[in-house]
Amino acid sequence: MTLGHAKSMADSLKGKFRSKLLAWYEVHARDLPWRMSRDAYRVWLSEIMLQQTRVAAVIAHYEEFLRRFPTVEKLAAAREASVLAVWSGLGYYRRARMLHAAAKAIVREHGGKFPASAEGLRTLPGIGRYTAAAVASIAFSEPVAVVDGNVERVLQRVSGKRLAGEELWEAANHLLDAKRPGDFNQAMMEMGATVCTPRAPQCLTCPVVELCATRGELAGAAKPAPQKKREIHYALHSRDGEVLLVQRARDASLMAGMWELPEVANGNGAPRPMFTLRHSITVTDYTVRVWRAAAPSGVGGKWILVERLGNVALTGLARKILRRAEVL
Ligand code: SF4
Repeated sequence: MTLGHAKSMADSLKGKFRSKLLAWYEVHARDLPWRMSRDAYRVWLSEIMLQQTRVAAVIAHYEEFLRRFPTVEKLAAAREASVLAVWSGLGYYRRARMLHAAAKAIVREHGGKFPASAEGLRTLPGIGRYTAAAVASIAFSEPVAVVDGNVERVLQRVSGKRLAGEELWEAANHLLDAKRPGDFNQAMMEMGATVCTPRAPQCLTCPVVELCATRGELAGAAKPAPQKKREIHYALHSRDGEVLLVQRARDASLMAGMWELPEVANGNGAPRPMFTLRHSITVTDYTVRVWRAAAPSGVGGKWILVERLGNVALTGLARKILRRAEVL
């Protein structure tokens, strides 16, 4: 027997779905550092970091961020440059700025306490419907469902319907276990991330296989957009323990205000690149050629001592290049 449309499912089937999913989650949940605590600051930080960033990359940054900013008050009091420097490597820096702005608002307007409902959380900078529901359900046990890409896929496959927009939120709220909303939401996301994966879902080990309408790919699933390809050249210009970096415009749409190597047109006269590496940002795959060459005149920039680089908000690509060149 399958669930069919999640919204119209009988109570007994919903109960079965919840108990199977939660029993599976108790055994199979990955041991992730942010699952050790239901503290709103920690839950919120992990949710913001996990947006558009792989779990492995977040693990590498989460503990360090908490070490530097152990409380929302400490984060609110920090300089933006310090926050961006610790965020460096996670990408999508607008998230870090919003995180900082939200911390200030929590301290200034809420006496350092997080609003305890999804509705209240949504008044804070950078907290949309998904994040508000995730924090409210995990930290405050508010019965509100989350929908992210993983939950969307699970709901569509389980129901056998190409649900969209508000239908997804209604279906998720309909299925939600109101007694354990935080665990239920995390279990749905975990199952989507580890079992009901985009390609080749592992239906044989799925806890809700007997309730699933599709048991595999939903017919006519959209193919992901193809990646664009671009070639880009950077100059690694160094002297006496310093390296020349340039700051991205404060209003750039990506990585505003971060530091990177100066771009050059195809080597700026150097005979061959030092090395070539690959780097992906959103839908673009870059072939990155790094030249030991002077930066083009007029590029501006700043000479930065190599030992100070750890305190500079570098772009992820700049960090990758400097590591590869063994400067970092
Ligand atoms: Fe996803 Fe397969 Fe489980 Fe259905 S049975 S929810 S398709 S893993």
